[in-house]
Amino acid sequence: MNPVEAVRTAENLSMVGMTISFDAVQKSLKNEAHCHLGGAWPLSYLQKISSPEDYLKLVHYLQLIEKGIDYHEGFKVFALTAKIVNTDEKVEAGIVALCEQYARDGVERIELRTGLKDLGSGLEGYLKAVFRGIERGARESGIMVDLLLSLRRNTSKDHCEQTVALAINYFRKGVSGMDLSGDSTIGEGDDAIAALKKAKSAGMSVSVHMGESPKESREQQMREIEELAPDRIGHGVFLCDEAVDWVLSKKVPVEMCLTSSCKVGMVENPSAHPGLKWLKEGHPVAICTDDPLIFGVSLSDECYQAATLLGWSESDFKAYQERIAGLFFHP
Ligand SMILES: [Zn+2]
Repeated sequence: MNPVEAVRTAENLSMVGMTISFDAVQKSLKNEAHCHLGGAWPLSYLQKISSPEDYLKLVHYLQLIEKGIDYHEGFKVFALTAKIVNTDEKVEAGIVALCEQYARDGVERIELRTGLKDLGSGLEGYLKAVFRGIERGARESGIMVDLLLSLRRNTSKDHCEQTVALAINYFRKGVSGMDLSGDSTIGEGDDAIAALKKAKSAGMSVSVHMGESPKESREQQMREIEELAPDRIGHGVFLCDEAVDWVLSKKVPVEMCLTSSCKVGMVENPSAHPGLKWLKEGHPVAICTDDPLIFGVSLSDECYQAATLLGWSESDFKAYQERIAGLFFHP
């Protein structure tokens, strides 16, 4: 039984009193602040554009993830979705399909993040394809879409420099901020940190995935905090004590992805995620999906799961959504 099913079963057994229903969560307007494009493509869209072999491989891999997978292994699925969505045209159409999927789930605003790729028209050509997809998707589905450009700690110096130059060039003209993500135990991060410092100097906000693996050292976390002063933290499960103090004392928003954290073994069950405790204590925590395709969840699933664990009523949930709307990088 996955965590969402477990919560629904609990509700069916009347174990959770007067908390908000799944229907009410789905009908409420919602905001998604942590979604990687490469892990978000609608499955029906991928089926339409992929070869039967690649589609079967993908479905098989998703089934493995559903059962729970090692954190480092989980990243391999991104190579598979990248193999399927392999042209600028497919990227554009996929974003339109993703916007429709989010709109059907009652989502009002999403902040997408993607690393730049060269699919034949250079990094800027890819970025423009993403802009076209966002423009069409937002127009046709009526939702707002912001964009963060992602770097990994092992992204090459040249790629980091090109990405940050484009991010600055298109800042507030399609790009809202930047993100540091990928397997947090791979790469020293020197070039990515230098590029992100440049982005911050240009006035951009930066979200950093941190505390995803117990193998992250205190030195790594505190260096990234000291050098980047991240504007938001992704996950934040395995933060060292000093990092927790910094996040809580500075009221730095945390992006909490309950199902993702469970499936890759960051936490044993959703109620063990530290973000829930912080949310209860009034810290700004955004409930997000991370990768709706990879973890087989919608934003409604994730919000319902958190709301049920926190015992939220409908009005608690609405108040939360109003608070969370203020965390987006683009005002
Ligand atoms: Zn993420």
